[in-house]
Amino acid sequence: MAPHRIGIIGFGKIAQDQHLPAIRANPDFELLAVSSQRGLSPEDAKYTFTDYREMLKLPDLDAVAICTPPQVRHDIAKQALLAGKSALLEKPPAATLSELEDLKGIAGKANKTLFTAWHAQHNAGVTAAAKALAGQSIKRLRITWKEDVRHWHPGQEWIWQAGGFGVFDPGINALSILSRIAPDPIFVRQATLEFPSNRDAPIAAALTFSSSRADADLQAVFDWRETGTQIWDIEIETVAGTRLLLTKGGSCLEIDGKVVLDEASAEYEGVYRQFDALLSKGQSEVDDIPFRLVADAFMIGRRLSVDPFTDATPPKAG
Ligand code: NAP
Repeated sequence: MAPHRIGIIGFGKIAQDQHLPAIRANPDFELLAVSSQRGLSPEDAKYTFTDYREMLKLPDLDAVAICTPPQVRHDIAKQALLAGKSALLEKPPAATLSELEDLKGIAGKANKTLFTAWHAQHNAGVTAAAKALAGQSIKRLRITWKEDVRHWHPGQEWIWQAGGFGVFDPGINALSILSRIAPDPIFVRQATLEFPSNRDAPIAAALTFSSSRADADLQAVFDWRETGTQIWDIEIETVAGTRLLLTKGGSCLEIDGKVVLDEASAEYEGVYRQFDALLSKGQSEVDDIPFRLVADAFMIGRRLSVDPFTDATPPKAG
């Protein structure tokens, strides 16, 4: 089968760090074009544009990877689908649930592939954890997602704007893993969201979940103020007594204290393998569960105002 001719829209951090190398390494894709408002262009892109609408006119273009901030994703994806191009949506897949639902309908009518690329789900530990938990019931859950926003999102203003998701930008990765491995539906029962007093998106969040088991103790903590060891861990204990520990964002899995898997993260290789499979079969994959959990946290969350946030690293005390 001829490779899928793909274009990247928005050539920022994730497009350069992950999408470009994953596309280059996958013979099922050919990088046809890049659209960058700033005019950035990798040397192997046949065409480059500063306006993605011009790129969508390319008759040879099969699909686009939309790597912009989420606030503009719906409009771009809609135009891509209506132009007859399939679309990969970086996470979060849109700004609102209604926007994602709309895209699902448009993709269906246009008979094009729409793919919500939850990259964290493509860690080998996630598949292994889902298998280990199948048929079990979760008694205790602790998600700890703590990282340094200044390191991972330097100078990115959009994440602090309304609709930028704040700490849920990484937190949604944990929820995407949870939704993939949990054997039963999980609901947000309580949430506390900490907003810097000068920002419109939270810097930290604490969630309590519920499930079909009334006695289950299910919690998550997301924090963007962690300047020490970065933590992306999910601990689970089942009713039958099995203990699972997923660390390093899902690339390492321990079961009952034994490391059963510890692989270098290859998330975006998995993302593009799945996109190829969907494009080849003419199917879509629209998974809105992680997105719904975040929306629910914003819907029922208690809001606390905390210290203002500035991007500059604060001076060390003493
Ligand atoms: P980023 O570095 O700010 O890049 C986003 C790029 O999108 C910008 O550099 C700009 O590129 C383009 N863009 C911005 N506003 C636009 C607009 N109004 N219309 C069209 N294009 C626009 O952000 P990022 O970190 O790459 O994140 C992008 C998405 O990937 C987010 O949804 C994020 O959650 C997700 N993601 C990020 C990471 C990470 O570690 N950073 C990891 C996984 C997923 P041009 O100037 O080139 O057009």
